[in-house]
Amino acid sequence: MTASVPAPVLTSAEENYLKAVFALAQPRIGTNALADRVQTKASSATDMLQRLAEKGLVDYERYKGVALTDAGRIAAAAVVRRHRLWEVFLAETLGFGWNEVHDLAEELEHVQSPELIRRLDRFLGTPTHDPHGDPIPQADGSWPAAAGILLDQLLPGTAFTVVGAADHTDELLNYLTQVGAVPQSSWTLVEVLPFDGTRVLQDDDRRLHLSALAAKNMWVQAHPAGSGAGAQATGAAPAQAGARNEDAPTRRDLQQWGDETPFTNETH
Ligand SMILES: [Zn+2]
Repeated sequence: MTASVPAPVLTSAEENYLKAVFALAQPRIGTNALADRVQTKASSATDMLQRLAEKGLVDYERYKGVALTDAGRIAAAAVVRRHRLWEVFLAETLGFGWNEVHDLAEELEHVQSPELIRRLDRFLGTPTHDPHGDPIPQADGSWPAAAGILLDQLLPGTAFTVVGAADHTDELLNYLTQVGAVPQSSWTLVEVLPFDGTRVLQDDDRRLHLSALAAKNMWVQAHPAGSGAGAQATGAAPAQAGARNEDAPTRRDLQQWGDETPFTNETH
């Protein structure tokens, strides 16, 4: 996003395709997989990819699939940046729930004024993560570290704060909202039930049972050791309790711009 390179003028549809290629994040993506993702016919996807190739944003060969060029990757990241900044604005400034911001941001992300986005970013205090815990590509092209680790990596006894969700489906976000396991809420992991991995959480005055599947899809930050008994994490890459954990085997790749996946599975 350097000032010297004029950004290509793109339609909303073109931006959505770029985002989809970016989100699928494989070295090359088949046209059918892409068409599925943007919910269109393969023939429409092919037409669009030819247009994007003419603009120098994708490298597309029939039967060989599609990959983003460097310019395409920058353009896609710019859309993701706008999307996530709008989500922060909707949640923090306008008071929308984290389960309500995505669809609105899908529309707002296509307003292309760089000055608007600069001011929005400044107004919000240059946030690094959106309400789902996803990193916001920064103005200088850098990519912030993962917001935390997944809840299923914590050991019992650990106190933590919810910072996001790896799964952005309405089903999970609505459920977590309903039970109060929302961003910035704090809990202690009391117990992991041996039968099915259910997590028993406790806050100041209530107990909550969360399925292993939900726990696998929640980003949390463990509180510093000493603020809760035995705060630590399990797993192949043990995490320091407390501050942001950069060793978690979760989204280390997200910091890369190159061929690495800057996302989980969603273009949020
Ligand atoms: Zn979103």
